[in-house]
Amino acid sequence: MENKQSSSNFIKNIVIDDLESGKYEKVITRFPPEPNGYLHIGHAKSIVLNFELADEFKGKTNLRFDDTNPVKEDQEFVDSIKEDVAWLGYEWDGLFFASDYFEEMYNRAVLLIKKGKAYVDDLSAEEIRSYRGTLTEKGKESPYRNRSVEENLDLFERMRNGEFKDGEKVLRAKIDMSSPNITMRDPVLYRIAHATHHNTGDKWCIYPMYDFAHPLEDAVEDVTHSICTLEFEDHRPLYNWVIEECEMESKPKQIEFARLNLTNTVMSKRKLKQLVDEAVVDGWDDPRMPTISGLRRKGYTPDAIRNFCKEIGVARSYSVVDAQMLEHFIREDLKLKALRTMGILRPLKVIITNYPEDQVEMLEAENNPENLEMGHRQIPFSREIYIEQDDFMEEPPKGYHRLFPGNEVRLKHAYFIKCNEVIKNDQGEVTEIHCTYDPETKSGTGFTGRKVKGTIHWVEATNAVPAEFRLYEPLILNEDQEEGETFLDHINPNSLEIVQGYVEANMTEAKPQDKYQFFRHGYFNVDPKYTTKDKLVFNRIVSLKSSFKI
Ligand code: ATP
Ligand code: MG
Repeated sequence: MENKQSSSNFIKNIVIDDLESGKYEKVITRFPPEPNGYLHIGHAKSIVLNFELADEFKGKTNLRFDDTNPVKEDQEFVDSIKEDVAWLGYEWDGLFFASDYFEEMYNRAVLLIKKGKAYVDDLSAEEIRSYRGTLTEKGKESPYRNRSVEENLDLFERMRNGEFKDGEKVLRAKIDMSSPNITMRDPVLYRIAHATHHNTGDKWCIYPMYDFAHPLEDAVEDVTHSICTLEFEDHRPLYNWVIEECEMESKPKQIEFARLNLTNTVMSKRKLKQLVDEAVVDGWDDPRMPTISGLRRKGYTPDAIRNFCKEIGVARSYSVVDAQMLEHFIREDLKLKALRTMGILRPLKVIITNYPEDQVEMLEAENNPENLEMGHRQIPFSREIYIEQDDFMEEPPKGYHRLFPGNEVRLKHAYFIKCNEVIKNDQGEVTEIHCTYDPETKSGTGFTGRKVKGTIHWVEATNAVPAEFRLYEPLILNEDQEEGETFLDHINPNSLEIVQGYVEANMTEAKPQDKYQFFRHGYFNVDPKYTTKDKLVFNRIVSLKSSFKI
């Protein structure tokens, strides 16, 4: 894991220095998603970083949609991003769209042309690529590089007016085709795209490139610290060039950090969209997705995600975080909050033959033994109960302490029962077992007569509420790909198992997004999508134990 002490502080140290030296008076950060998909846990890292940093120095954080690519962007994504940031517990100061600055960006591009710092190029995308050179080879200047300012102004205006087709012309910065930094070799600033934009409609047919737009967006909003991921390190000189040459008054500073990677997880919107489009999952909010909406539906809480993001810290070196660490934080968060209850995932009927027919007694159960403030509840007990199929074995191996013929176990919150008879169907499958109970052994009465080695959970059968349980495994078996493979070759065929069982009688009150700990099975969330008034569906958030230590 990253060294938390130093790593979580390197950006903060920059901010402290900048405030002390008077470079900036107030900290303004921004979270700038492109609305081309739903947010994922990697974005959460950036959200937590930006909002918490500004908050610590009494600054501001904007939510800005970086919507400069008309083809991939959509209102659905804008809405989901707002919902997810708010759900994580953050309030943005300004809500902005990069597309609101298109006129300003156009004017700055005109300024560059007038200064002789930008030109319209007729080379095709492919030609531009081949003229660009390589790390070891200098680039070659375009034959259109030395057009006059007048000609460039005229052509750029005509690009805006829609006189040219997509790809026919671009606007490029005139910097240095022999720069050792390839990003500085006359980068493209504007391209033509005859496409309808989710915000500006058909007003524009030229769109600014990220490297031109982003620094201007930051400067227009007076952002001081523009935090981005490490791939943009080489773009920093261009970022600064745009700010300088466009004569922006505000001078934001770009700072890079390592993006979050998680084991067994793909983390790019493009790949996540593929999983949705190819119906590998049932939507962006499928509980197997690393999206904020998927994690929310699975049962993660904002606190768990925020605490995880804070713990992993911020560094400048590449790393992959163990997904079990995220699980650790939801267990920690729910430990004292979730009601502890009993659920049977794979039911086996038990008849307690010496218990009076038609009698139902109420037993007392603690709601959370680690948090007694959560109080108690009453649970029914009668002659018929369900237990887990794997809590019974007809021929147990050595060391098996649960139910088997002749053995006695404790029923959690209830009595000792002893197995006397096994009932099977024609196929030889166990359909029911018959036990006797000992009324002396009632839980809470201090019975010390004898000990049993196993305690199992159960649900009273006549009042039990049928429930569906959805059990998850990682969606991606291995995030490293061999040559010729894609991440789709590593999809886990067993990432979802659905079983039908029962929960306690009082669970009829459970509402979507309520969270419970089912004794021995782990933490579960009431699924908001599939739960109906007739059927409860639970997503397993996480099992109870992990070997992971932080
Ligand atoms: P993706 O490839 O998943 O679409 P992106 O970086 O293109 O990611 P943006 O919408 O541009 O997505 O990202 C908004 C902000 O979130 C950016 O500042 C980006 O640096 C940050 N971000 C995206 N992915 C991660 C990640 N895995 N870890 C940390 N920050 C991230
Ligand atoms: Mg992107």
